[in-house]
Amino acid sequence: MSITTATQTARSRSVEQVVPAVASADVPGLTLTRMIATQHLDHVDPFLLLSDFWPAAPDEPVGGFPDHPHRGFETVTYMIGGRMRHRDHTGANGVIGPGAVQWMTAGRGIIHSEMPEQGHDDDGEVRGFQLWVNLPAADKMSPPAYQEYTADEVPETQPADGVTLRVIAGAAAGVTGPVKGIAVDPLYLDIQLAPGVAYTQALPPDHAAICYVIDGDLVVAGTDIAAHHLAVLSPGGEITLHAGQEGARALLVAARPLGEPVARYGPFVMNTEAEIHQAFQDFQAGRF
Ligand code: FE
Repeated sequence: MSITTATQTARSRSVEQVVPAVASADVPGLTLTRMIATQHLDHVDPFLLLSDFWPAAPDEPVGGFPDHPHRGFETVTYMIGGRMRHRDHTGANGVIGPGAVQWMTAGRGIIHSEMPEQGHDDDGEVRGFQLWVNLPAADKMSPPAYQEYTADEVPETQPADGVTLRVIAGAAAGVTGPVKGIAVDPLYLDIQLAPGVAYTQALPPDHAAICYVIDGDLVVAGTDIAAHHLAVLSPGGEITLHAGQEGARALLVAARPLGEPVARYGPFVMNTEAEIHQAFQDFQAGRF
């Protein structure tokens, strides 16, 4: 109740920064872009990285991400087309299909592979997003954990004509997403708007918020945001999204900032350089 009151009294949010998706690492057959962890935008506490990927050419085999480590944060993979097959060093494995999400808490360390697949039935071409969410210092060395939900387990709601929300984490329009128990109390929405339709989402005023336009054209708090661009929102309460003539699909993600030092090197994100060195030593010594 206190959050609702605070949201209503806080100033509406505006767009503080707009950054483009930029080409990232070479993966055979895959176009991999990043919006966070680029030369334009290092991170938005607690978000450390955001990427968008799809096939470089239709109907060609796609490569992926062979064995690699993570320590100190969480990786969130959300697919809207194709599948992502994953396997880790403990033997855990699975496949997430269109509309499914995997929220992986790497904690003290995981070594895994993530291999996109397409050509299954009606799954369509691979399209997915990966968000890295930081862990508080106290949780960085926690045991690895997974939350994985199929498309059917991610609720979809239509709070108004032309508005479709898929609620992955947090609550919106009276619907609560399946991902639970995350330290930074995230909201993660996949929003589809018909042409000309607007939607307003309340957000906790002290949470960081980002909006990534997947396709179409979207006006975010009065600012035009083209597809493949990310809007970083100002502090404040609610945010209004207004689709243009093509309609729009976007990810709206918010979470509590940690306000802790960030020391990062590749797949390790800790609080100090010494902890990064320790991560390398532990990884090389097989202590993950
Ligand atoms: Fe990974």
